[in-house]
Amino acid sequence: MFCPRCGKADQSPETYCRQCGLYLPDLSKPLKRESPPEEHLKANTVLSVMTIVASFTLSFLLFLILGFRSFTHPLIYVTAGLLLAIGGWHIQTLIRTLMLKKQWKRRAPLSENQGESSRGFKSAPTAKLLDQADFTDVVPASVTEHTTRHLVETPQSKTK
Ligand SMILES: [Zn+2]
Repeated sequence: MFCPRCGKADQSPETYCRQCGLYLPDLSKPLKRESPPEEHLKANTVLSVMTIVASFTLSFLLFLILGFRSFTHPLIYVTAGLLLAIGGWHIQTLIRTLMLKKQWKRRAPLSENQGESSRGFKSAPTAKLLDQADFTDVVPASVTEHTTRHLVETPQSKTK
């Protein structure tokens, strides 16, 4: 393969260019498909809501059933407090996720016009271009003969 930056030939993929040091990915491997950010946000929202409900319910039950009795062990208060803290932390996470969702929705119509290329930031549109660069080897025979003959003739006349 060729280096896309400096054009040096005979490079092996998944190494660095021997001339300019650019990283050369293996283009024959399929690109990793990242799940779209909407799915991450949806999963985060569901997880946060579930955690909030679970932790608040559990701490409420702890206080209701075991709390405020003469035999209540202090560890129960600690546990209930911890559960409340977890619930509070996840409320904050949920708010941030919802804000992100809002931002994403505002940006979504813009990116839809550009199609697939803007979906994942890591899907590197240059990789598709690099694949096409390999077609430079497949030049019709007649053209190659023509060019090589021409190139061979010129340096000989100059050096001799
Ligand atoms: Zn290079």
